[in-house]
Amino acid sequence: MRTRTVGIIGGGPGGLMTAYALQKAANCPVRITLFEASDRVGGKILTPQFARASVHYEAGAAEFYDYSLFDDDPLKELIAEMGLSIRAMGGPATILNGQIVSNLDDVRSHLGPRAASALSAFDRLAKDRMTPQEFYHSDHPDGSASEAIEARFDTMLAAVAEPEARRYIEQLIHSDLATEPCLTSTSYGLQNYLMNDPAYMRIYGIEGGNEQLPRALASRIDATFCLGHKVVGVAGTDDGRLRVESDHNGLRRRDEFDFVVVALPHGHLRSIEFRGDRLAAAMQKHHAYYDHPAHYLRITALFERPFWRECFTDSYWMLDRFGGCCLYDESSREPAGTHGVLGWLLGGTAAEQMSRQTDEQLIAEAIDSLPSFLAHGRDYFIEARVHRWVGAVNAMPGGAAARSLDRRHQPEPTDHPNLFVVGDYMLDSTLNGVLDSAQYVAAWLATTMLENAETLHAER
Ligand SMILES: Cc1cc2nc3c(=O)[nH]c(=O)nc-3n(C[C@H](O)[C@H](O)[C@H](O)COP(=O)(O)OP(=O)(O)OC[C@H]3O[C@@H](n4cnc5c(N)ncnc54)[C@H](O)[C@@H]3O)c2cc1C
Repeated sequence: MRTRTVGIIGGGPGGLMTAYALQKAANCPVRITLFEASDRVGGKILTPQFARASVHYEAGAAEFYDYSLFDDDPLKELIAEMGLSIRAMGGPATILNGQIVSNLDDVRSHLGPRAASALSAFDRLAKDRMTPQEFYHSDHPDGSASEAIEARFDTMLAAVAEPEARRYIEQLIHSDLATEPCLTSTSYGLQNYLMNDPAYMRIYGIEGGNEQLPRALASRIDATFCLGHKVVGVAGTDDGRLRVESDHNGLRRRDEFDFVVVALPHGHLRSIEFRGDRLAAAMQKHHAYYDHPAHYLRITALFERPFWRECFTDSYWMLDRFGGCCLYDESSREPAGTHGVLGWLLGGTAAEQMSRQTDEQLIAEAIDSLPSFLAHGRDYFIEARVHRWVGAVNAMPGGAAARSLDRRHQPEPTDHPNLFVVGDYMLDSTLNGVLDSAQYVAAWLATTMLENAETLHAER
């Protein structure tokens, strides 16, 4: 049987998961070449160390979403298959007006009874609109029933009559959404609100750092890894294959494949020139459909000790600064350590605008944002790192109306049926989504390869 060749563009989780799933699913010989522009695999799963102490922190994706209480959870299964241990994460608290708000009673005493009942009413409405099962199945594999564009989430929030309650909800979800309520759909806004309830979803991290997942995947993939190869062009050939042009230290390289998978985040699709009128137009349309950029900014500080532990023992809590941000106790991931690590995750407009500031300004603003009861923490400060993620995620994954999974993953089925795309921006902007996308394309590819092989065999 002839060996099929597959080029995968992008060595982030999406590219690695596609290669791994394809390797497992293929029933014929496959040779995979993976192109990665940078000098490492893992993309936005990144677990670096500080300079002045060998302490790790998450600079990109912080947590994994656990759906195993409902049904299959392919991501949790994959992590277990890699032999990696996980640690549950949680954190119900919000710091609002300098005070800790952890439950409805706290809302009542800090924001007043009217705010508490407005919040309860919103919570009921949200849970009526989407049950945990509906949350789990919210991907619409066949596309949404109607192509009607959904209302934006701000219209739903406008119905919360009490401004304090509305502000509380906005702050609570801002860093998960990574955008503003007026820039996302009602269903995505609702999902990001409901995911704070453990009946809908739980959260965990990988012990020893999340980056172990891409490393474990890479070590199990039998492929040619072309690191430092930025793909600049893709074009169909006369014999129906696909040519990939990459740049390595200024040198151009051209490779031809039977199949190509573009496993890039939405914001990087434009780094490639798709050649030929049909392919260029299809990729342009694909890009435009999901063009809802959302933004993150991380500031992570190392302290001599975790000075906040008298007040907080959870893995994270919310802070009503920068439009609502999440503060991660990064040091809770390594309980044996003596240092304290706090990570500020800013989202949306604040993240985009503040990304223009210098690291020094951002670090100073982050430390200044601590509430007065934690302000003494600055005395323990050692160093901090900044990671800018402008346009790195999606504000309306799946687009304004969901398309069928086939349509999402194959932008030009007529003349380029062997070109596929993989990405979280077509599902839910998370690692669970990018794995679903990768497994969908890998299964499709494996079936297509087998059908092609059987047709050839029958013709002989
Ligand atoms: C700050 C932040 C926090 C997040 N938190 C979470 C979280 O808690 N939970 C969660 O589930 N998800 C989270 N996410 C989302 C998660 O990181 C993504 O779902 C995931 O990284 C998507 O994987 P990917 O492979 O599609 O893209 P990426 O991770 O971006 O990887 C793409 C790779 O392609 C490479 N590349 C780009 N252009 C080219 C080219 N032309 N040629 C070759 N290679 C190229 C890049 O260098 C990169 O390595 C977060 C994202 C950010 C930014």
